[in-house]
Parts: sequence; structure tokens; C-alpha cells
Amino acid sequence: MARKAQEGAESESRLCPMAEEGVSTERCGEAKSDPCMEGSPRWGPQHAGAKELAELYSSGKRLQEWICVILCFILLCFNFVSLIRYFSFEHTASIIISIFAGIITADFASGLVHWGADTWGSVDLPIVGKAFIRPFREHHIDPTAITRHDFIETNGDNCMATLIPLACMAYKFMFYTPDLIYKTYQLECFIFALAMFVTLTNQIHKWSHTYFGLPGWVVFLQDWHIILPRKHHRIHHVSPHETYFCITTGWLNYPLEIIGFWRRLEDFIQGVTGEKPRSDDLKWAQKVK
Ligand SMILES: [Zn+2]
Ligand SMILES: [Zn+2]
Repeated sequence: MARKAQEGAESESRLCPMAEEGVSTERCGEAKSDPCMEGSPRWGPQHAGAKELAELYSSGKRLQEWICVILCFILLCFNFVSLIRYFSFEHTASIIISIFAGIITADFASGLVHWGADTWGSVDLPIVGKAFIRPFREHHIDPTAITRHDFIETNGDNCMATLIPLACMAYKFMFYTPDLIYKTYQLECFIFALAMFVTLTNQIHKWSHTYFGLPGWVVFLQDWHIILPRKHHRIHHVSPHETYFCITTGWLNYPLEIIGFWRRLEDFIQGVTGEKPRSDDLKWAQKVK
């Protein structure tokens, strides 16, 4: 199934270049006519739905993102320095296992949140619709929009998600005795790796859509599949966007595909609620004005 999706991604990209390539020709100043963009565009910044969704980004949302990014990075730095302070070589093996488990958990969490927002709910939902579901809808019909978002818009929501666990960790480092910190040190390493990778998920996702000017070390991490590689993430961007939801490292995409994890979960939810998966996503994709 994953292989079929990959073949699909490759054949679709041959027939109709994906948006990343659309940007490349634009940036090179060779705005060639694209058969996929004639009439109503299927995707890209000129798509009617993409334009409407981009306009829903408000100044209140921007402020929320700024506050979350600043607080989150202060907490990340404080916790990192505290972890170094209490580090002991005795724990090396268990620290490595804890960090690895944290990264795997972050990848699964990215898949679960991404799948939930892509598959269920609607932009019309009060508060969460415009603030948190809108970016997912926009991303499917204008995948390159993320590459034009600045650091704050890219990372604001993920920074918000990790604020509470990072604040709890900082509290422990400030008020717990060294003895108690020593006892729970591996757990703190797990939580820190999890929080760090959750925080970075959308930045990693943005890099997976960026084909120009990436630093060499980012390309190295992508090529060695330490973070989400560009080719790997293209499988998710084949309509109807029903697989490869994990966007931190992408390590879990293949095993979850093999066991039909997302399909089974969707069948179960549809059976219980009667809701059809991705109906709102499809509605935005088909918008012509
Ligand atoms: Zn998606
Ligand atoms: Zn994407």
C-alpha cells in the first residue's frame, strides 16, 4: 500500500509536477504555463480555497504565536542547561534509550495530531476551526505556503503544545531536591526529547517542502532520514491525503501503513459517529471561488 502510494506520488509528479516544483520555476523567473494550473488551479496560492484560508490568519493569532514561541524557547534553554547540570555518565545507556523513545513518541504524536486535523473537524468550528484546523486545510491545497511562512507562523502552535510540560519540568528543576531529580533524570530526558521534537516538528515539516537554500546540515539529516526527508513526505501529499501522517522523523509511517493503522481508526470512528473522513478537506480542495 505504501509502495503503491509512493508509485502514485512518483507517477503524479511526472504527470503533474507538485507544488514545490511549481515554486522552483517561479523563483527562476520562468513562469511556464502548467497544464495542471489551467482553468481553476488544483493547488497553489491562486487556488480559491487557499486564498480564503490565508486571509483567515488574524493579528490575534499572530500575537498568540509570538508569546508561545518566546516562552517555549526560554523554557527549552532553561531545561537544557538544568539537564546538563545534573548529567552523570552512570546513566548514559538509559539516557540514550530515553531520548530515542522521546523522538519515536514525538513522531507518533505528530501523526496523530496531523491525522486528526486532516481527517475530522471543520474550519467552521468555533475557535479551533480558524486557529488550528485552517493551516492543515491550507497546506493541502497550497503546500508551498508553509515555505513562505516566517519562523513565528511556522512554529507558534507547536510551541504552544509543549509549554505546559516544559513549565512543569522547569518547576521540578527549580524546587525539587537534587536527590529527587537524580531519581527521575531518565524520565526528564524522555520528556525533554519529546518536547524538543514536538516543538521542531513544523520546522522539520517546512524543510521537507523547501527545495532551495537549505543549510547543508539539514539536507544531511534529511538524506540520512534522521528528520523527515522531502521525497518521503511527498507520499502524504498525494490526494486524498490518507497516509504517511507522521512528520517529525517519519520513522513510523511505513510500519503504521503496513498494519493499516489510520484506515482502521477511521473505520472505527466512522462506525461510531457516522462522520465521513476528510469531508471538510475535500470541500476546500474543490472550492473554485
Ligand atoms: Zn496533511
Ligand atoms: Zn506537507
